[in-house]
Amino acid sequence: MKAIRIHTPGGPEALQYDDVAEPTPGAGQAVIKLAAAGVNFIDVYFRTGAYKAPLPLVLGLEGAGAVTAVGAGVTDVKVGDAVAWTGVPGSYAQMTAVPADRLVKLPSGVAPKDGAAAMLQGMTAHYLVTSSYPLKKGDTCLVHAAAGGMGLLLCQMAKMLGATVIGTVSTEEKAALAKAAGADHVILYSKQDFEPEVKRITGGRGVDVVYDGVGATTFDKSLNCLRPRGFMILFGAASGPVPPLDLQVINVRGSLFLQRPSLNHHIAAREELLQRAGAVLGWIRDGKVKLRIEHQFPLAQAADAHKALEGRKTTGKILLIP
Ligand code: NDP
Repeated sequence: MKAIRIHTPGGPEALQYDDVAEPTPGAGQAVIKLAAAGVNFIDVYFRTGAYKAPLPLVLGLEGAGAVTAVGAGVTDVKVGDAVAWTGVPGSYAQMTAVPADRLVKLPSGVAPKDGAAAMLQGMTAHYLVTSSYPLKKGDTCLVHAAAGGMGLLLCQMAKMLGATVIGTVSTEEKAALAKAAGADHVILYSKQDFEPEVKRITGGRGVDVVYDGVGATTFDKSLNCLRPRGFMILFGAASGPVPPLDLQVINVRGSLFLQRPSLNHHIAAREELLQRAGAVLGWIRDGKVKLRIEHQFPLAQAADAHKALEGRKTTGKILLIP
């Protein structure tokens, strides 16, 4: 079968379309024939070597498809079930083996492509707005890169919870998408300084929480956008990592709360995985959250998908189709 592997970290050219052995299920595992694999910014961090993993590595942490075989002791899923997962490496492939306790059965009414698009970014948006800082009616949040995969989901979920949403984006086209996803105010941070804009929009008060997946270029000013005792949730580094921080900054900017969360720690227990996946997939099935699968690439063209994502050319979700 075919899979996209990296043998040495590097640019998009490091992604190789290799022949690899078909997986067989070990104890507790299920083998899945993929309908789609999700592309996420974390795949870029693994490709460049910013995040480490043993090599060669089949990239990809999210997918969906049909179970084709199960190993000893697997009772949760059976051959033929439509399933989705995240947090297990190896989804940039035609087939993969996944621990059965990481699989979520797709509810009827949720297509495999939607499952592949929803698991990583959907459950991340879910924990950010319900756990990292539980948004409530009347809150105001700032969402950076509001038309990205994470951004469009954060806007929708924050609105659902009754918050006022301020989004930042780099282009007019992205601004329109963020607005359609529920952003009340959109700032073109490529043209305007977002800090005074946020102050103006909030009447000088500042926002209750910043959800920042952009990192290097947004972090410092984001601290100034918060109300005293506001919540800075740094969840990614699309523009590069944030430099080391003097913690006294957190004091003088207003006794702030600072978090650097990861999805893994929010779905480690199977009950929590099922609860978050159930909520997100339920919203998708019921039309309360809309996925925008804006870009689909054949598996062999994973490098093009990465170029587009890193080049800020994408909006919404990117899938690879094996
Ligand atoms: P996106 O679809 O949001 O793509 C990244 C976006 O970031 C771009 O479209 C661009 O939007 C913006 N951006 C700003 N500066 C740059 C830059 N220099 N290079 C590239 N992009 C830039 O990606 P994802 O939705 O996959 O991920 C968004 C962030 O969320 C990432 O940092 C990712 O690591 C993080 N994440 C974290 C998780 C966690 O649990 N901690 C889980 C999932 C994602 P614009 O053009 O509008 O500026």
